[in-house]
Amino acid sequence: MGMAGPFGPAFFIPVTHPFLYRRAASLDDATHALAEPGTLPLGGGTDLLVTIAEEIARPDVVVDLRSIPNGDAIVELEDGRVRIGATARISGIAQNGLIRDRYSALAQACDVVASPALRHMGTIGGNLCQRPRCWYFRQGIPCLKNGGGDCPAVLGENQYLAIVDGGPCFVVHPSDPAVALTALDADVEIASANGVRSVPIGEFYTLPRDRLDQETILASGEVVSAVVLPSESAGGVQRYRKVMQREAWDFALVSVAGCKRPDGEVRIVCGGVAPRPWRVNSSVEEDVSSGGLDDETISTLVDRALLDVEPLSKNAYKVDLTAAMLRRVIAELA
Ligand SMILES: Cc1cc2nc3c(=O)[nH]c(=O)nc-3n(C[C@H](O)[C@H](O)[C@H](O)COP(=O)(O)OP(=O)(O)OC[C@H]3O[C@@H](n4cnc5c(N)ncnc54)[C@H](O)[C@@H]3O)c2cc1C
Repeated sequence: MGMAGPFGPAFFIPVTHPFLYRRAASLDDATHALAEPGTLPLGGGTDLLVTIAEEIARPDVVVDLRSIPNGDAIVELEDGRVRIGATARISGIAQNGLIRDRYSALAQACDVVASPALRHMGTIGGNLCQRPRCWYFRQGIPCLKNGGGDCPAVLGENQYLAIVDGGPCFVVHPSDPAVALTALDADVEIASANGVRSVPIGEFYTLPRDRLDQETILASGEVVSAVVLPSESAGGVQRYRKVMQREAWDFALVSVAGCKRPDGEVRIVCGGVAPRPWRVNSSVEEDVSSGGLDDETISTLVDRALLDVEPLSKNAYKVDLTAAMLRRVIAELA
């Protein structure tokens, strides 16, 4: 919906559901406010306000985390790990010298998120916790996530949905940074009124077969306070490759993050193919780590990586796309 302003058309999101807005004075203040039922955290608001307008989210109160002092800091810890505060902007992470030097896969992933304006508004905490983009879910159609009895995409428009780990719902995970962070073995720091805990990002996301109402393990009242990158993942060879339908400012049809650490360990993770960042079989990663691979061996490794994929009626093209991208990234790592 839009209206004419002095500088041309101005667009706004028609939010019909009323809610209170408050700015957090500190992380402690935020977690205590979030302990109240009906309260949600706000980062850049680029997804939350849309989900409120779409009536997918109906908070009574939103707590703005951006006012937390130093909540966006990117710092090296004494033990060499790097901590990125949850309200760090996607564009700030992409441009940060420490991240570009040591964790370039993350910088590359942040560089290709959405548009410059969305990268400037969006925070890493909000990006990791954004809701999936399945058309049926977002339109309020009674799919499994909206309280319906089945997934209309199975017999309907499933061209952008999952080819692996789906069922009974086939959403794909939308975040580019999450895919790179999984390949970098990052930890997610989670805060609540009860204190702070930390989980490997590989355990942060849930699958639809385990729960349908949300995509992360966050309990009510918990927020992401930071992501922490291990020193072992710094440097080496790092790649983030993404294919989009429109070639710009769009979610990944398929993406691949590949990292070969200085100690030789390899991590390969795909985006756009599963309800969470999808790490390939560790035996494939080990064989890539041994290096010296010719084209034929790489093709065999890619076939092994994709053994479990099961495309839906309209997304078999994603299998070929993923294979092509894996071939390219594995060759670059090898
Ligand atoms: C047109 C378009 C294209 C896009 N393309 C891409 C893309 O290519 N790649 C990509 O990765 N993303 C893409 N996005 C998503 C965009 O990057 C996200 O909207 C943004 O990163 C979300 O960040 P935010 O800070 O605005 O989150 P918000 O909108 O503030 O929050 C999003 C969700 O996370 C919750 N939340 C916020 N902060 C926290 C926290 N610290 N802890 C726990 N929960 C929290 C909110 O309650 C809400 O549910 C696109 C978005 C649009 C609109």
